[in-house]
Amino acid sequence: TSNKVVDIKALAQDLRAGHRAALARAITLIESRRGDHQAAARDLVQALLPDTGKAVRVGITGSPGVGKSTTIDGLGMFLVERGHKVAVLAVDPSSARTGGSILGDKTRMARLAASERAYIRPSPASGTLGGVAAKTREAMLLCEAAGFDVVLVETVGIGQSETAVCDMTDFFLALMLPGAGDELQGIKKGLVELADMIAVNKADGDNIKRANIAAAEYRGALHILTPRSEHWHPPVVTYSALTGTGIDVLWRKILDHRTAMNASGEFASRRRQQQIKWMWSMLEQRMMARLRADASVRAKVKKIEAEVADGRVTPSLGAEQIAEMLR
Ligand code: GDP
Repeated sequence: TSNKVVDIKALAQDLRAGHRAALARAITLIESRRGDHQAAARDLVQALLPDTGKAVRVGITGSPGVGKSTTIDGLGMFLVERGHKVAVLAVDPSSARTGGSILGDKTRMARLAASERAYIRPSPASGTLGGVAAKTREAMLLCEAAGFDVVLVETVGIGQSETAVCDMTDFFLALMLPGAGDELQGIKKGLVELADMIAVNKADGDNIKRANIAAAEYRGALHILTPRSEHWHPPVVTYSALTGTGIDVLWRKILDHRTAMNASGEFASRRRQQQIKWMWSMLEQRMMARLRADASVRAKVKKIEAEVADGRVTPSLGAEQIAEMLR
């Protein structure tokens, strides 16, 4: 496809050749709100689709301070030293409000940021979680087309964004602290149900014993839950991102999981389901965008909203009237 704003063909070619500048430009295109950019980005992703899907996609979550960036730096370097190319992306819807992303910040992953075999991109700063997640998903595809064979997607321990990251990755890793209390919180949040592994960080020095106790508690909690797959019981491990002890185990478990999921066919079905879910979420966003785009539609929606608020129109009838406008 020829395109006025961007030469898609040339950009796709440069990106496939692994040029970092091309990758950065392509992701910027995806993140742009301009209509012509978005159309170009759609063409670009479609053109690159045959080159996507081959990476190991890992989601990593944990509360601030748990050691996400230290872990990604350590795991990333472990992988880079073994010949992998590692992309680090982030989903942080709050970054729009704080004016900058705390996740995916290069200064937090100093060693990896300096590596030629790594690419770190902060969270797109675009309002809604749906928007941020959609852009990160597409950025992931671009990274794959550019030859990155491991993609780490970082998020904070907030329910909605964790689900979004889980929905775009093959393996969801939950990081925990050795400290008391924190573990039960994680269980309450339903996080444990999403996690393919729980890893208790900071198992070093005086913390080792507490880390082991926390790990035992998590094992107990997981025991009473029905696992998502009968072929994978989420392991609970301890490690230290600071010293590097146990980083290799994290990766080994990720590969074990991949082997098990491939053997059972769940790998392919998880990816297929994610694709479908993604399409519907994109559709939802586009319908909402249509409601916001037209001034007269916006005014009608406002009026219906007021009528519903006043109790003159039922929410159900209001929804029906708005849906009619989408025809
Ligand atoms: P994030 O907010 O989850 O990204 O956490 P950081 O990676 O920034 O780490 C928060 C703090 O915990 C920093 O001061 C790190 O040096 C420290 N930290 C991270 N991993 C470890 C670890 O394995 N052991 C110890 N003792 N400290 C750690």
